[in-house]
Amino acid sequence: MARVAVVSGGSRGIGAAISTALKSAGYSVAATYAGNDAAAAKFKAETGIPVYKWDVSNYKQCAEGLKQVEADLGPVDILVNNAGITRDSAFHKMTPEQWFEVINTNLNSLFNMTRPVIEGMRDRGFGRIVNISSINGQKGQFGQTNYSAAKSGDIGFTKALAQESAGKGVTVNVICPGYIATEMVKAVPKEVLEKSILPQIPVRRLGEPEEIARCVLFLVSDDAGFITGSTLSANGGQYMA
Ligand code: NDP
Repeated sequence: MARVAVVSGGSRGIGAAISTALKSAGYSVAATYAGNDAAAAKFKAETGIPVYKWDVSNYKQCAEGLKQVEADLGPVDILVNNAGITRDSAFHKMTPEQWFEVINTNLNSLFNMTRPVIEGMRDRGFGRIVNISSINGQKGQFGQTNYSAAKSGDIGFTKALAQESAGKGVTVNVICPGYIATEMVKAVPKEVLEKSILPQIPVRRLGEPEEIARCVLFLVSDDAGFITGSTLSANGGQYMA
């Protein structure tokens, strides 16, 4: 039977590339999303991957949603915590809403999504959890105290949970992408991209979502069973942690 994988925020951007790569590799995939029904419907029609709508910052919705996925596809073997948002502002102008929305969606979501499935993984003696953090969680970023704090928290979560889970066949790893060519980054004006962004990246290009998806594919494979608690930087050499 195919292993079951859940990808949060799996209908767009990096998450869509991860969902698609997992499906192509033979996994039974569920992609979750927040509210962009049009994008989710298009993704489902193009890939055949079932989509589930809930808010990763809400524990009850995550618990109920994951229960539904398990009823439809079977127990969750692989969890990719990918959903994330930015609400940038200099800290001295940041609102409580900007702070809490980002912490809830990028960090508290890891509790909300992982807690409902971790006991099953431990009981079955197999699990793969991959968290998508960011280069900005490693080095900090101007205008992103909220995002940097949340993404840094994702790394700490990964290392602690990896220690707790290693003896039960469950690995937990984190990927820190640099600039990836998603819609958001592609919308940056060409001049800003060429003059300000690319010079910071030694390989002189943006990363592709599929390059992050291939990192996930490796980390969830049986071949990666000895790798846990690790932080994989995929940033074109921009930051060598
Ligand atoms: P996108 O904005 O393209 O897609 C985000 C996905 O997450 C969407 O499917 C969205 O759903 C979903 N989502 C957002 N908020 C919630 C929520 N509250 N509940 C459930 N789902 C939610 O993001 P990217 O592909 O650019 O980023 C993916 C991950 O990679 C994020 O964690 C991001 O921080 C990280 N990252 C991205 C980088 C980049 O250069 N793009 C660089 C480093 C890290 P919907 O479609 O309904 O809105």
